[in-house]
Amino acid sequence: MHEILSRLDERARVLDLGSGAGSFPPGATRARVIRVDAERPGTAPGNFVLADAARLPFLDTSFDAIVSNHSLEHIADLAGAVGEMRRVLRPDGYLYIAVPDASTLADRVYRWLGRGGGHLNAFTRAGDVPRLFGAGKPAATRLLYASFSFLNRKNFRTRAPRRLLLVGNGSEALLRAGTWLLRKLDAALGTRWSVYGWAYYFGEFPEGAPETEAAKNVCIRCGSGHPEAWLEARGAVERRWFGPARYACPACGTRNYFVDR
Ligand SMILES: [Zn+2]
Repeated sequence: MHEILSRLDERARVLDLGSGAGSFPPGATRARVIRVDAERPGTAPGNFVLADAARLPFLDTSFDAIVSNHSLEHIADLAGAVGEMRRVLRPDGYLYIAVPDASTLADRVYRWLGRGGGHLNAFTRAGDVPRLFGAGKPAATRLLYASFSFLNRKNFRTRAPRRLLLVGNGSEALLRAGTWLLRKLDAALGTRWSVYGWAYYFGEFPEGAPETEAAKNVCIRCGSGHPEAWLEARGAVERRWFGPARYACPACGTRNYFVDR
C-alpha cells in the first residue's frame, strides 16, 4: 500500500477502511488520514470515525485513496460497502485492497482456530475482488504469503484458545521452522501451502505499476512482509554454516528464517 500512500500530498485524504488501530503508521503518508471501523479499537487512532462500511458518513468523491487492508472479509453487507467505497472515492482515486484466499491452509487454520474468526466473505480466486468492484484489471496484483502469525502465542493479549495446543501451542520456534518449510515446499512443488491471499492496486501509476513480485519473508510475530533483495541489501541476513539463513525483522526484531528466491 505504500506505493499509494507515499505519492499523496498534504491536500489529499485517505480512508483507512476497517482500520482497527490503524492499517499503517501515521508517518506513512503526508495525506490526511481518516480511520473507520465498525468497532472502536482499544487504542483508537487519530481521526477515528465509528461507522458501518455500508453507510459511510462522507460526501461523494471526498477521498483521494482508500486502503482496505484485510477488512473486506469481515464486512456483513459487502455489496453495500463496495457501493460506498465507489461513491466516496474520486473517479481518479487510488484503491488498495488486501484479502485472504479462503481456500488456503492459512485461512482455513485461522477460521478453525477462531471458530470462523469473523471471516464472513470468502474470496477464492484472484479475479473475485476486481469483479466485485467492476473495476477491470487492477494496475497490479501481488500474491501475499502467510506467516501464520495469528498462531504466535506472543500475539495473544488475552488467554489463547485451547485449540492452539493442537498446533504447537503457538511456539515461535515451531512457526519459524514450519513457515520456512512450507515456503520451500511451495517453491519446489508449485503448491500454495504458505500462500495467504492477494493485494490489489487500482488507479493510474504513470511512472510504472507497483511491484508484483511477492515478498516471501513475512514475520512470524508482526506479519510485516519484506522483499528478499531489500533484506539482503540492508545486511539483515545472517548466513550460517548449518541450517537456514536468518534475519531479524526490521519492524519488530523477531528472528525469522530467511527465504530466498
Ligand atoms: Zn516483525
